[in-house]
Amino acid sequence: MLPFKLVYHPEYDLNLGPHVFPSQKFRLIRDQLVRDGIAGADDFLLPSEASDADLLRVHTPEWVGKLRNGTLTASEVMKLEVPYSLELAKAVWLAAGGSILAGQCAVRDGFGCNLGGGFHHAFANHGEGFCAIHDVAVAIRRLQADGAIRKALVVDTDVHHGNGTAHIFRDDDSVFTISIHQLNNYPAHKPPSDVDLDMADRVEDDEYLETLIPVVTEWLDKFRPDIVFYVGGADPYCEDQLGGLMLTKKGLKERDKRVFQEARKRQIAVATTLAGGYARRVEDTVQIHVNTIVAAREVVEDSGIQRHVATRPG
Ligand SMILES: [Zn+2]
Repeated sequence: MLPFKLVYHPEYDLNLGPHVFPSQKFRLIRDQLVRDGIAGADDFLLPSEASDADLLRVHTPEWVGKLRNGTLTASEVMKLEVPYSLELAKAVWLAAGGSILAGQCAVRDGFGCNLGGGFHHAFANHGEGFCAIHDVAVAIRRLQADGAIRKALVVDTDVHHGNGTAHIFRDDDSVFTISIHQLNNYPAHKPPSDVDLDMADRVEDDEYLETLIPVVTEWLDKFRPDIVFYVGGADPYCEDQLGGLMLTKKGLKERDKRVFQEARKRQIAVATTLAGGYARRVEDTVQIHVNTIVAAREVVEDSGIQRHVATRPG
């Protein structure tokens, strides 16, 4: 049994059919966690859809209405880069509910993991790059409205810049945004995050980690957030079809683990979401996302051992 909850819903699947976005990955990740004996039935929580009130703390009524009623214009669908369907709308409402639930679990348990979400290209008034609703922003604003948190730090490790996150929180002092991404990649226009770590093409594990970890550590100390929302992209992987960085699976797991360690060392809650992953072999994308959960478990286990040693009498 895991020391934290996994949030998953069978209808996370965006039902895209053959598409570069492997929308079946959500189910494959869940299945592999069970098959590998990492998680059992009791470890999973089923989210409900976010309410419209939750979405409207982030998105415009016009955009929420268009998604709900299927009245997007042709150019809006083109920008979204995925076909609109009622299943897609349901999936993104559920993903937002899932990130809210993962955030609530994180505040309670230290970690909470949504096996979906991370739709960081969604803006208040439109969707982009496979992202219709910004689940992480919805979750942060809901936790703030409930008084569960005051300040949040978003650490976005997707290979693509977190443009929606940066834009939504541009004037919000209660949310600090860090994005590490490949500079020469989508989106062409990158509204500034609080910290943007622009990686050159073909950067490898060591340079990536040496850039990311000190910055995360610095801002955990300076900003002192109540929660970290971790957008765990699988697409900095060396064999990704939409990415141009050269990280290995080992490096990606190390990335996750070190961010989690730094946050938990400071007793800061960590909510994780997925994000992109377009490896040639979908099994690689699935394994990278599974490793994020394993990294979180290892961080909890390591801290438990330290605490035990520290409190042993004599
Ligand atoms: Zn991406």
